[in-house]
Amino acid sequence: MKNRFVDDGKHLLDYAGEVLVVCPRCSGQATVFRVGKLLAGRFSCLNCGATIEKSQGMFRVEGAKDPYFGFPLYLQVRCSSGTVWAYNWAHWTDLRAYVSADLRTQSVVRNNTYMNRLPRWVKAAKNRKRVLVALDRMAKR
Ligand SMILES: [Zn+2]
Repeated sequence: MKNRFVDDGKHLLDYAGEVLVVCPRCSGQATVFRVGKLLAGRFSCLNCGATIEKSQGMFRVEGAKDPYFGFPLYLQVRCSSGTVWAYNWAHWTDLRAYVSADLRTQSVVRNNTYMNRLPRWVKAAKNRKRVLVALDRMAKR
């Protein structure tokens, strides 16, 4: 049976309500939350108690960093072609489903969805096994 993935048109921003990051103070796992509809962020670390508020809306996509503060993502792992990353576990789950699918379709036709805009090497069938191994390695942290 073919393993199918249906892209429902999500953008990267749709995954960014809650972003798991590495705390810059204690190196533990911390979270950045989107505040309201503005692209403001609130950083909170339950390990060391650090909190940072940022009211200025700014969403910057820069590889494996959170889009509000630029802290390194907690869910990231290097593989031979580059770095695979996700903002949170829901994002990770969708990315894994996409990579493992034999058949990829869209429920809405859009060119600028998150899945469509993934790097070519992540989408390539020949890299599927390698990327899945990387994603599973990320989950074992
Ligand atoms: Zn901390």
